[in-house]
Amino acid sequence: MATTSDVTLTNDKHIPRNIIMVVADGMGPAYTTAYRNYADDPSTPAIETGILDEILVGNASTYPAAVSGYVTDSAAAATALATGVKSYNGAIGVDANKQPVESVLQRAKKLGMRTGVAVTSQINHATPASYLAHNESRKNYDAIADSFYDDKVNGHFVANVMLGGGTQYFVREDRNLVTAFTENGYQYVEAYDELASVPAGSDVIGLFAPVGLPAALDDENHHRLSYMTEHAIKHLENPEGFFLLVEASQVDWAGHANDIGSAMAEMDDMSVTVSYLHDYVAAHPDTLVVLTADHSTGGLTIGANGVYEWHPEYLRNMQSSVSSIAVNMVSEDSPAGYAEAQLGFTFEGDDTARVTDIAALPDFEARETALKAFLDEKTNTGWTTGGHTGVDVEVFAFGAGAHAFAGQLDNTDIAKTFFQYLEAK
Ligand SMILES: [Zn+2]
Repeated sequence: MATTSDVTLTNDKHIPRNIIMVVADGMGPAYTTAYRNYADDPSTPAIETGILDEILVGNASTYPAAVSGYVTDSAAAATALATGVKSYNGAIGVDANKQPVESVLQRAKKLGMRTGVAVTSQINHATPASYLAHNESRKNYDAIADSFYDDKVNGHFVANVMLGGGTQYFVREDRNLVTAFTENGYQYVEAYDELASVPAGSDVIGLFAPVGLPAALDDENHHRLSYMTEHAIKHLENPEGFFLLVEASQVDWAGHANDIGSAMAEMDDMSVTVSYLHDYVAAHPDTLVVLTADHSTGGLTIGANGVYEWHPEYLRNMQSSVSSIAVNMVSEDSPAGYAEAQLGFTFEGDDTARVTDIAALPDFEARETALKAFLDEKTNTGWTTGGHTGVDVEVFAFGAGAHAFAGQLDNTDIAKTFFQYLEAK
């Protein structure tokens, strides 16, 4: 039987023309297992495998430069993934001595390829920033945004396509970078559906929110990353090849918030994106896709408190995030009835009384925390931290040159291999 996997395997040893790097921020191994269970068809006894099981090739260590110990932040990890150089936590495209180091995206641009980013955070957040800019601190958001316009590679802007959030940083009182880009031939879009009318091959800046995009569960398009990725590729395809960074940024944000409902929804957007890319590679076998995480977040566990159970059935029909339920429930005539409809499962036992009590809590944060605890109890989900953990992460790859990512890697190895492929083209 001819499958898309056969197509990708036969081209596995080739040097890729196009490289697509997908970073699922915060997606430690517990997230991919949880997502398999979440996506399982409960009407069959088997737990079905998914796209991630098909494309798994290896494992990567994530530790930052020695000065920052064993547990990385997203900036140091993104710098390692983008440049092949380990740095300190907070570093954006600079080494441990705060000196700029070239990213694979910048090298691709130098070699005449088209380049882009499509992310669900603001486009100047740590991961995309480490591919596009150099700054001693991830917190210098305005300066990083300025770099996207000011720093040229061989006289060209570093990225042809930038899709995500961030109007707050790009349209400021002291500087309007959107106007500056449009004066230089870029198309500007502020709504997802406007992307459809931009002619293929354009330079595009699309900013769809003031900071990060709405959570997948609350966004008008639950699969906005997949949508942006498809459109980014349309504008990047050209005979010289392209480099695209895709980031499922908010898996990490859900992990920091210990929010299992949003974590699964963000994983679903990422998974749909990767399925799209798998089809794309079947039709464009000269393309390489690598997916990994920068670290794990939240210390997620599937099962908790000594109980050998996990119940994803409470997550599969969620209509909005617990944050938005915590905001909106107070103005409903029946807060518990509203929460039941939004959470998407039938309340039983004392659930209605408990959620009615939650709705009576005076401040939003207390309601949100209590709703998350309610869902954690229902699903028997555990968390150990509101921050990151230092476990290794999985590496997934398919398409031209995918063989090089098999086995145990360090996160820096991914960029080192990309540099070799870019130079060998
Ligand atoms: Zn994080």
